[in-house]
Amino acid sequence: MEKERGYNMQIPEIQITKSWRKSISMSFDTQGVLQVRAPKFMLSGQIDNFLLKNSAWIDKNFQKITQRIKNKKKYLLWRELQNLETISDLEQYFKQEAKKYIIPRCNELAQKYWFTHAWIRITSAATRWGSCSSKKTLNFSYRLVMSPVECIDYVIIHELCHLRQMNHSTKFWKEVFSIMPSYKIYENHLKNEGWKYTL
Ligand SMILES: [Zn+2]
Repeated sequence: MEKERGYNMQIPEIQITKSWRKSISMSFDTQGVLQVRAPKFMLSGQIDNFLLKNSAWIDKNFQKITQRIKNKKKYLLWRELQNLETISDLEQYFKQEAKKYIIPRCNELAQKYWFTHAWIRITSAATRWGSCSSKKTLNFSYRLVMSPVECIDYVIIHELCHLRQMNHSTKFWKEVFSIMPSYKIYENHLKNEGWKYTL
């Protein structure tokens, strides 16, 4: 017998706000509530039709947002366990941690794979994990220190490889691959989970 579907599915909370607007739109807020913005005189049946028509989009994005919320909760719990909430200046704390870990690790990997670099700086960059200047200075965001150590290695190796290839050419990726064959996992992790490593 075919299993009945749909009953276990979680349904998002829906909040409808009507205002003087021409068309209906919706998005999930950070709490996972579906915020529907509808024109003032739209009938509830029309709103229902709109929701029904977009049910696939709603399901997909609701799953995504609930997963994010779960992850964020896990991360916050982890932070609590680390007793980090007692540290008044978290940014300063992570910057120090980053300096303590990333700089020596970068020097170690540079030596191991014959790279010559100039300064290593820990920055507050929000959107990039690392960068490499034409003067061979390497920059790493302090946020990186919150990510798994393999991800830190990946970003270090990525930036070190830019010392030889100042681009993202096939040659560059070959170089990264030769040092860290599994780099894709960590690149993807940072792409998908990187948002967690913020304060
Ligand atoms: Zn790059």
